[in-house]
Amino acid sequence: MGKGCTEVSSSRPCPICGKPDYCCFYQNGKGYTEIICKRTKSQQDVYGQDGRIYHFLRRTQKEQNSVFQEKELYEAIRAKEKDDWMRANKKGPYNPNHRGKWQDKSKTSSPVAANIAVPEPIHYEIVESIKPISHKDRDVVYKAMLSCLTLEDYHREYLHQEGWSDDLIEKHKIRSFPMRDVIRAKYSNFFCRNPYRKKLARETMAKLGSDSLLGLPGAFKDKSGNWTFAGPSGICFPIYDADGYLYGIRIRMDFTDCGIQLEKDRYGQRFYEHGKKKYYLQPFKGWYVFDKGEKIFLSKKDQGYFTEHNGQEKFIRTSGKYRPLTSFFEDQKEKEQNHRIVNSYDSGCALESGTSLYADENDSYLICYLTEGEKKGIFANHTMDAPLVTFPGVDSWGDLFTGDQNHRLIDILKQKGTKMFIIAYDADKAVNESVLNAQNKVLDAIRKEGFYVGVANWDESCGKGLDDLLAKGFQPSYDIL
Ligand SMILES: [Zn+2]
Repeated sequence: MGKGCTEVSSSRPCPICGKPDYCCFYQNGKGYTEIICKRTKSQQDVYGQDGRIYHFLRRTQKEQNSVFQEKELYEAIRAKEKDDWMRANKKGPYNPNHRGKWQDKSKTSSPVAANIAVPEPIHYEIVESIKPISHKDRDVVYKAMLSCLTLEDYHREYLHQEGWSDDLIEKHKIRSFPMRDVIRAKYSNFFCRNPYRKKLARETMAKLGSDSLLGLPGAFKDKSGNWTFAGPSGICFPIYDADGYLYGIRIRMDFTDCGIQLEKDRYGQRFYEHGKKKYYLQPFKGWYVFDKGEKIFLSKKDQGYFTEHNGQEKFIRTSGKYRPLTSFFEDQKEKEQNHRIVNSYDSGCALESGTSLYADENDSYLICYLTEGEKKGIFANHTMDAPLVTFPGVDSWGDLFTGDQNHRLIDILKQKGTKMFIIAYDADKAVNESVLNAQNKVLDAIRKEGFYVGVANWDESCGKGLDDLLAKGFQPSYDIL
């Protein structure tokens, strides 16, 4: 571990990949925190597991790991440095003779600098939080929880459209996760056959005991001390480890969830006002705004959710439709005022990984496919009778190599007979440089372990994801490298 480096831990996991090991925090020469996420090979800005954007700074010299800094912090530092420079060189608003675009600002009593608050480097005290229970135990609890849930008709219809059979749905216990109780109570017109989350927790505990939710990522205690669940509403997809234990759940979100109080306008529509703009929420479609009387849905890029923790409201941009079921979120007030890393979810804990192996006993392990996303993984495994490893993102492939020698996922696949890995990311990703970069890195790393490697290709007009292609009855072509 280099000078100025602090390894991540279960109580202060890597904010980018969300994992409790391998990555580290680096205190740079100016005292600001940078993050070396060794699982993220991207050389572009990335979304962290905490929902924030992390700015790519550079690669480390020796190991060529990517170094990031939280984007807001990075920009504040840049603005302050620019301001310091202008002040020192009597430029811009600090130039007494300057007329022009800086004039207005210089007239005001507070020059630019007053608005720039660069956080001082801080040492955070890490408060130990709940450790997740073993995969084996989680398997029991998650399955009990899922058995209390049903798959709503609109979700079943969606999966049918995607080529899923009811058998496949049942095999993997695909269920709908209900919306948060507080939001559900507001949408009285909502047709939902699933229990309220608090009831879901009670029903699960009735099966397994009153302490069975402790250490289950996603479960936490509400203000009254009752167990309930965090996470967005949507379709639950199981995540399995190499032993086949269901150790986590990823949710395909109905719409980007929100945790704030919505107001009701005179037409009965729910909205949230932020920065003089009113954001409306339409169930299953997402947020929209009115522009000149027209209803405009926020683009995928602008899609996000409002969240509230200790009275602090924030619009968090999000990417992707899938979220892990987790009950870990840093308490912002504790962090900012007391410099403590505390989980804002009472008795909650984080899901440490999102990598899954989908395989059947009768599958031939000779060729193992790698893709991104649980829905694709399950469907492709079912259709191709070959094992599928899915990553939560194209940069998360490091999970293949995480763990003790001979117990890493890649070792287990080797023991089961895998000789070749074929990567099958989305067709549109074949043109994305950072994806190609990630793809080459994982292929290199796998080849070094003595496997054959290849890439699955298909025309995007046949389908974007591997599952779309297979659902239409097509097969990819392979480039063996
Ligand atoms: Zn990391």
